[in-house]
Amino acid sequence: MDCLFCSIVDKVIPSNIIYEDDLLLSFTDINPQAPIHFLIIPKKHIKSLDTMENDDLELISHIFKVIPKLAKQQGIEGGYRVVNNCGKNGGQTVDHLHFHVLGNREMLWPPG
Ligand code: AMP
Ligand code: ZN
Repeated sequence: MDCLFCSIVDKVIPSNIIYEDDLLLSFTDINPQAPIHFLIIPKKHIKSLDTMENDDLELISHIFKVIPKLAKQQGIEGGYRVVNNCGKNGGQTVDHLHFHVLGNREMLWPPG
């Protein structure tokens, strides 16, 4: 399967990895939208939040357990934003489930 983030998981495509365990990989975004911007993805290929199955729900709780730890470890202060772009109208450009974590600037609302 031709998937950019699966290639990053397989280390065929290099990335700046900040965290890895059996289930997850986290790496800095190549086009950062904040002073700190990293992605966290399941190693398993899941296309989007929309195609998740019940068995995958554990992954999501694990992701959200790891995010605050990484935010602290990466030096985010004063809060952060977690984003999942889902599908075309959600602005998803890579079809492998991922969560953005953005920090160290004040975020705007509503998002664009
Ligand atoms: P989304 O638009 O939510 O699908 O987010 C995809 C994100 O992946 C964007 O923020 C891109 O900058 C990021 N991205 C694309 N290619 C790479 C790469 N090779 N390494 C790290 N981040 C990437
Ligand atoms: Zn994939």
